Amino acid sequence: MIANKHILNEVELTFTTEQNQREFELDLLEQRLLQNEDYSKAVNQIATLEFDLQKAQFFGNEALAEKIEQEIKHYKSLKEKLRLELGFDDTQITKPCPICGGTGHNENGYCKCFVKRATALSYKELSTDIPTLSRFSDDTLSHVNGTKIYFEKLHKYADNLNENSKNIIITGKTGTGKTFLAQAVSQSMEDKKVVLFLNANRLNNIFIEMMYLSPQQQNNILNILYTCDFLVIDDLGAERILNNVTAQNLYTIISERQERKKPYMITTNLSLDEIGAKYGDRLFSRLSSRLNLVLELKGSDLRKS
Ligand SMILES: [Zn+2]
Repeated sequence: MIANKHILNEVELTFTTEQNQREFELDLLEQRLLQNEDYSKAVNQIATLEFDLQKAQFFGNEALAEKIEQEIKHYKSLKEKLRLELGFDDTQITKPCPICGGTGHNENGYCKCFVKRATALSYKELSTDIPTLSRFSDDTLSHVNGTKIYFEKLHKYADNLNENSKNIIITGKTGTGKTFLAQAVSQSMEDKKVVLFLNANRLNNIFIEMMYLSPQQQNNILNILYTCDFLVIDDLGAERILNNVTAQNLYTIISERQERKKPYMITTNLSLDEIGAKYGDRLFSRLSSRLNLVLELKGSDLRKS
């Protein structure tokens, strides 16, 4: 999960607020129902009978307990019937996520509804629209000679992403399917991981916009980029480089992510050497570390076929 406190706290707060709101609305509805005499009687009967049931169970009077249970059942169904007749309308009340019951957490940790919100909020903090990503199933690429092996390997990579996963650099000419693969990898892990897919040009604009923000806001943005579970920088090299801003920030993000064992993926038309020439030796040495895997797509231009 993204290790940004601000994002986690904010998302946690939305779940708490919604839960409170739901409880409040259900309570309000119940209060209105209780104004009906029959309904209120049924509710009181159930309460009294439940008390009697406990007593009967305590004294081991099974026959009586069974009789009381039947009565409770009767009043409960009467209550439900009245609810409907009185126009009980809970459709107006937002239903919680069926997987986690609206808490954002389940036995496996964070529910996918939580991950989704954390991702959306991260994009929002970066003032970036949430991109629509291609899926592995959308593909035409796996049929293209020479790319099928990457396709399968990356699918597996996405399924098993963890802190020991390598960082991946996909190079190749325009139209060989780099972006498609990066999108499909990102899409297939989006239920479990906070994945940010950023075009290099957009990322560069984020760096520029950041210069007009307070140090605290800058830190928050950088921290999101350092700590999201998976970061994709798509089409590196296509952006317009701004003095030191682009290279410096890029280097910081890459090294912070490597330190924190947060995997990333870069797609680019450039070779590693060309990246070195454009962004500096420090970035080159980070990218050519053994933590990184360079995949070169050689397929023909898919957009021409
Ligand atoms: Zn959920």
